[in-house]
Amino acid sequence: MKKWIINRLSPINHNLSEGIEYWKEYIFLRVLFLFLILGSLAYIFGVTWCIQANYYLVASVVSIAYSSIVFVIVFNTIPLQIKYYVVTYMALFLGVSLLISLGTDGAGFIYLIGYSILAALLFGLRGAVLSVIVNLLVIVLIGIGLWYGIFNNYRISLIEPGHWYVLSFNILPMSAVASIPLALVVKGLKQIIDSLKALQRSLEINIEQLHKAKEKAEESDQLKSMFLANISHEVRTPLNAVMGYTELLMHNMVEDEDEKERYYQIVFQNGQYLLEMMDNLVDASLIESHQLTTHSNFFQLSDLISELKHLYESKKNSETVSLRFVENLFSCAEFALNSDRKRIKQILINLINNAYKFTFIGSIEVGYEDANDTLLFYVKDTGIGISEENRKNIFRRFVKVDQLKGGSGLGLSISKSLVESLGGKIWFDSQEGKGTTFYFSLPKTEEENLGNFNSLIK
Ligand code: ADP
Repeated sequence: MKKWIINRLSPINHNLSEGIEYWKEYIFLRVLFLFLILGSLAYIFGVTWCIQANYYLVASVVSIAYSSIVFVIVFNTIPLQIKYYVVTYMALFLGVSLLISLGTDGAGFIYLIGYSILAALLFGLRGAVLSVIVNLLVIVLIGIGLWYGIFNNYRISLIEPGHWYVLSFNILPMSAVASIPLALVVKGLKQIIDSLKALQRSLEINIEQLHKAKEKAEESDQLKSMFLANISHEVRTPLNAVMGYTELLMHNMVEDEDEKERYYQIVFQNGQYLLEMMDNLVDASLIESHQLTTHSNFFQLSDLISELKHLYESKKNSETVSLRFVENLFSCAEFALNSDRKRIKQILINLINNAYKFTFIGSIEVGYEDANDTLLFYVKDTGIGISEENRKNIFRRFVKVDQLKGGSGLGLSISKSLVESLGGKIWFDSQEGKGTTFYFSLPKTEEENLGNFNSLIK
């Protein structure tokens, strides 16, 4: 029983965050419940008296009104707006019926005031004003009815029409005073609740932004530490090599010409590595400060691929890993792309170098193909792959899965930013122990699709 009552008293159509609508439903359910309990006394006494006095019509009207309130309380599934209308108009109906049947001896006037209060509470200022107008109409119409003797069989006919107006007009200021200020208070409350809600929302947004800023600051702090740890190691190692081998060469401590040649190679490679590292750092800081720019021009992709082929042929990265370039683009080899050639080369070099770094035996395949309105590049290796747990992090700055491997942990994050600033996407597929394929797509324009590109190339 307790659970049933709690259930009936809890708003189900609105929740607390909806503000005034929730409170309207909340008050409505309690008013109904109070009416059900306290009205039961009035109902029992009233109906008993009516039956004794042979006022069967009054007894039926009161029964209809009371049972409709019971009905509204018991049937939770009735739409709330309909409940509001039923209860409000039932108060009006009861008021009018009691007035006609019992005259001013009954509770008719009280119900008319109750009708105005309910209208104000449930339908706002408009409801309140309308209820005062309806009450006025009721008074005037009953007065006219009295004048023409329409209610001769009812107790109201005991009142003179003039006397009726004197008595009943008092009800108008009463219903206006009870309903209009209430409607204004509800309106004011609604505004206050709405502005509080707006304030709460903006506070939530601010807190969210502060959280994000805090997380970013913490991440930056962590990244700074990772960066310092990484960089000092990554710079020191090649720098030591450069210093050490240059010293040997400078002091003529190496006699053998082949050995000398090898040392020059080592110095050159380490210098180049340092240069790449510095370039990466500059790019990373440009990305961080949103200053990274790209410059698009038409260029032949096949040219770029040939350039990469030469570069890696001369590098001779590994004896056990083969490198293959595949150009799967229509029959036309001279495909021109309107994009930033230098940046695309940089991305491909990053991905190929990574593939070499993490492939000890097997092959690397680099290619691009036409994929509807995008151009899809890929670098596929048969290397160590990327474990499930590391997959979500590898595009983050300074993230290196294996701290013992060379690298600043910047290559992929820079590549991602570059691809995105060229309007594309980058992603990968990987199987641990079997290999990884990095893909990136770049948008293609109509002109690029045409096939006759020589005129476009500057
Ligand atoms: P780094 O310059 O240190 O290689 P990257 O940002 O390029 O940094 O790569 C981040 C990490 O992603 C690497 O340390 C490596 O763990 C992983 N990774 C990148 N490419 C590959 C690949 N082809 N195969 C396996 N792991 C890779």
